[in-house]
Amino acid sequence: MSHNVRKSETLLEISSRKAIISEGEKDFILRNILCETKKFVTAQQFDIWFSCLKIRAITNSSLVFLTPNNFIREWLHNNYVDLFSGIVYKILNSSREVIFSSGDESHEKSLDTSCSADNVSSKNVDLYEETYTVPISKYYSFENFIVGTCNRLAHAAAIAVAESPGQAFNPLFIYGGSGLGKTHLLYAISNLLASKGTIKTLYVSCERFVNHYISTIRSNSWDIFRRLYRDIDVLLIDDIHFFENSQGSREEFFHIFNYLYSTKKQIVITSDCPPEAIGSLEDRLVSRFKWGLLCGIDAPAIETRIAIIEKLSLLWGIDLSHEMAQYLAENVAGNIREIEGAIIRLSKEAKVIKNSFTLDFVKKVVHNLSEGKKYVGIEAIITLVSNKFGVSVSQILSKYRTKSLTLPRHIIMYLSRKLTNMSLTEIGGYLGGKDHSTVLHADEKIKRTLKKDKNLLFILQKLENELQKNSGL
Ligand code: ADP
Ligand code: MG
Repeated sequence: MSHNVRKSETLLEISSRKAIISEGEKDFILRNILCETKKFVTAQQFDIWFSCLKIRAITNSSLVFLTPNNFIREWLHNNYVDLFSGIVYKILNSSREVIFSSGDESHEKSLDTSCSADNVSSKNVDLYEETYTVPISKYYSFENFIVGTCNRLAHAAAIAVAESPGQAFNPLFIYGGSGLGKTHLLYAISNLLASKGTIKTLYVSCERFVNHYISTIRSNSWDIFRRLYRDIDVLLIDDIHFFENSQGSREEFFHIFNYLYSTKKQIVITSDCPPEAIGSLEDRLVSRFKWGLLCGIDAPAIETRIAIIEKLSLLWGIDLSHEMAQYLAENVAGNIREIEGAIIRLSKEAKVIKNSFTLDFVKKVVHNLSEGKKYVGIEAIITLVSNKFGVSVSQILSKYRTKSLTLPRHIIMYLSRKLTNMSLTEIGGYLGGKDHSTVLHADEKIKRTLKKDKNLLFILQKLENELQKNSGL
């Protein structure tokens, strides 16, 4: 990457110029932004979340960061969009919408068009090749993965595969519930292999694979697609249950699997359930997934939860006593991602109270956390929205596409994304078998409309309040 930024030109001049912003200039701006960010986060947090950022595009109205995956994109969006907006304003001396992108989302297409003024897409760089080059955070290592009876086999198998790819277990299939460490293990394999240098590893979420397949149908760029997934030594494919609704991409994956397997390349797969429980997966794929080693990850027992909490508290710079860790392990409901959320919240609040970090304080934060996160079910959303719009639930779930049904359906999808923990596929499935991209588009359409339509904003706020009020743990 070139770094030939003219010394006499200021950041402001670069950003306000109409001409194309070069890679070197983007790099220069990025370095300034990251330098500023370092003032607000610990060195460890910086390494994990921010060091992997790249700038994908700068337009007159927005600055688009490229992140390695959806997980980090969402995390940064939820926790740091305000901080970044401030920093970008400070550095470029004009405000821009800060967007975190990962290349996983199907709306990337529209992003490309909106950025075309800055000539992002005309470089003819394949978006997927570009995003795959973003490094995975070094935090996701085997050392940082706490081992207990719940995940011992998966951890050992992942290490064996990383130590001798193509020779230990092929394929290795890891399954287990959300937030139990499947992606962490794939990243750890990728990081260990990267440290050896010579082995070409590709991590891809199944969602990204499916989106890439769909965009390849449109662009007919099969050469790039096939090269990307075949010219590798190790394929790590995450959340394969996402294939459920996409027969074409499953077919393509079947050929990639056969090619890699027959050339003794390593394949590691994760899913939220065992292969035979993934709906609509063809028998031939199910049986191939079972050729190697299948291993499950269970929810961690209390001792493992405590060990994870102690490790995470070190990382987030909070001083937890064993008693506090025990309290968290027993009282934070849910998976390890939820535990991580609680620790992050504690570390943010601890900065404010400084010296009075007591068990009572921990209890208060945990209590607030569970209060703020009341469970809202999709059934309640469907019933309430149907009611408000004067249509029946069966009409909402039907295939009819009249105008009077489209808006409430879109609102249901938007609210389900916002208030439940369901995936796009699950929401679509619930609403009569819509696919994930339909849900994503509906969600985005409502978000766009909300920016200009105060009436809709008001209606949605009322609906949300009502749902929160009626729900309860
Ligand atoms: P999954 O892919 O199964 O949904 P993730 O791998 O994304 O779950 O894990 C969620 C979070 O919990 C990650 O930040 C991960 O680092 C952390 N985590 C999960 N399992 C462990 C573990 N055994 N030790 C340490 N951290 C863990
Ligand atoms: Mg995952």
